[in-house]
Amino acid sequence: MEGCIFCKIANHEIPSRIVYEDDEILAFRDVNPVAPVHILVIPKRHIPGITSLAEEDKDVVGSILLAAGKLAQDEGIAESGFRVVGNQGENAGQSVPHLHFHVLGGRPMHWPPG
Ligand code: 5GP
Ligand code: ZN
Repeated sequence: MEGCIFCKIANHEIPSRIVYEDDEILAFRDVNPVAPVHILVIPKRHIPGITSLAEEDKDVVGSILLAAGKLAQDEGIAESGFRVVGNQGENAGQSVPHLHFHVLGGRPMHWPPG
């Protein structure tokens, strides 16, 4: 979608530190990490958020979660534990309206989240 920063990252129009890529999804390091490992996993296709998901998006969401688990292993945070976060809407602090899941690890995390 025009003007969408994550679409631009997915199209390689804006540089990012890519850690995984295939036809459907992209994983890249968050520019403002809040944990030693902070990766964003997105569909390449523009989907505004979790509440915009449709039946036909089931596969891509599955691929994102699979990639999140594999990346956690690659990054060495699978044993110690990690968190996958999807912020939706204002109260959750979603700042980019293109579906993305944060993969966070490398330090202990609190529950409930702030
Ligand atoms: P949200 O707050 O919407 O859940 O997460 C958006 C995330 O995208 C934030 O953690 C923010 O640091 C990250 N982000 C925003 N713009 C860019 C960018 O241009 N490049 C990268 N790598 N991350 C970005
Ligand atoms: Zn987009």
